[in-house]
Amino acid sequence: MKVIFLGPPGSGKGTQAKMVSERLGIPQVSTGDMLRSAVREGTPMGLKAKALMDSGALVADEVVVGIVQERLVKVDCEPGFILDGFPRTVPQADALQACLGGLNKNLDAVISLEVDSDAVVERITGRRTCRDCGKMFHVRFDPPAQEDICDVCGGELYLRDDDQEATIRKRLMVYAEQTAPLIAYYQQSGLVSAIDGMQGIAQVQDQILVAMGRK
Ligand code: ADP
Ligand code: ADP
Ligand code: ZN
Repeated sequence: MKVIFLGPPGSGKGTQAKMVSERLGIPQVSTGDMLRSAVREGTPMGLKAKALMDSGALVADEVVVGIVQERLVKVDCEPGFILDGFPRTVPQADALQACLGGLNKNLDAVISLEVDSDAVVERITGRRTCRDCGKMFHVRFDPPAQEDICDVCGGELYLRDDDQEATIRKRLMVYAEQTAPLIAYYQQSGLVSAIDGMQGIAQVQDQILVAMGRK
C-alpha cells in the first residue's frame, strides 16, 4: 500500500499516519520529521531548513525530493509506505511520479483530510510532541496521562518552534497557495478520498482504513 496523506497543518496527518503505520506495519515517511532530525543533527542542510521552517515557508523542492528519494529506496519501504507531509507542491508531486515510475511502483490512494482553519490553529497551538519518540499529543483533545511527559516512552513533550500562532497563519496561506492544488492534481487520476478531519481521532482513523480498503 502506497499512500499519501494530504491536508493543512494540524489536520491530523501525523497522528493518523502513525496509527496506520503501526496497524499495517508499513513506515510513515514524514518529511517534517526528517527535516527536524536534520535540524537536531545540525547538518548544513538542517541549518538552512530551520530558518525556513521557523518562518512558516517551505523548504526547497530539490532538498525535500532528495530526502524522500533516499528514503523510498530503503528495504522497509518495499511493502509500502505512508507519505505524511509530502508532496507539498506540484513539482514535488511530479518528482514523486518520476521516482515511483523508476521503482516500478504506483500510488494506491491519496487521503485528503479536511478541517476548518480555526480548528487548526487551536490544534496546533495545543500540540505537544515527544522529543524522544515523536508521538503527538494535544493538551485538550489528546492529553498525556502526566503533563508534558510522553505516555509511551516517558520522554519530554515540547511545543515545536514553528507552532506559534503567527507562523501557523503563514503556514495555512502557504498550504492554500502551494499544496491545496494537489487535491485536483490527484483527483485527475481518481485516487483521492476526502475524509472529514473534524471528527474524533478514532473516527477519522476508521474512515481512513475504510478508504484504504483495510476495514
Ligand atoms: P505540519 O505537520 O504541521 O503540517 P510538518 O511537520 O509536515 O508540519 O512540516 C513542518 C515544516 O517543515 C513545514 O512548514 C516546512 O517548512 C517543512 N516541510 C515539511 N515537509 C515539506 C515538504 N514536503 N516540502 C517543503 N517543506 C516541507
Ligand atoms: P498534522 O501532522 O496534520 O500537522 P497532527 O497529527 O500533528 O497534524 O495534529 C495536530 C494536533 O491536533 C495534535 O496535537 C493532535 O494530537 C491533535 N489532533 C489530531 N487529530 C485530531 C482530531 N481528530 N481531533 C482533535 N485533535 C486532533
Ligand atoms: Zn515518547
